[in-house]
Amino acid sequence: MKRTYGVSAEMWDSMLLKQSGLCAICDIPMINPHIDYCHTQGPIRGLLCHRCNMGIGGFEDDYVLLRRAAFYCENSGGIFQAKKFENRNSERDAQNG
Ligand SMILES: [Zn+2]
Repeated sequence: MKRTYGVSAEMWDSMLLKQSGLCAICDIPMINPHIDYCHTQGPIRGLLCHRCNMGIGGFEDDYVLLRRAAFYCENSGGIFQAKKFENRNSERDAQNG
């Protein structure tokens, strides 16, 4: 178990209990929780799974970019069809047809 950023064992246990052992973003049970803290202001925000921690870290905590990424994923229906997906769809259609 990691104990960094001045987090005591009691605080760690309290955060885990408050989140019911689930990642604060994806609600999946955390095997190896990561402490998430605001890189610009410092305070600890909560515990995240590795994937979510890496995800927001990749955007360097830029809320605007994170919102834009979410919007993009939700709304870009796809302009271009990649070859591998064309093949996958053809196989699925053949199986279903
Ligand atoms: Zn997560």
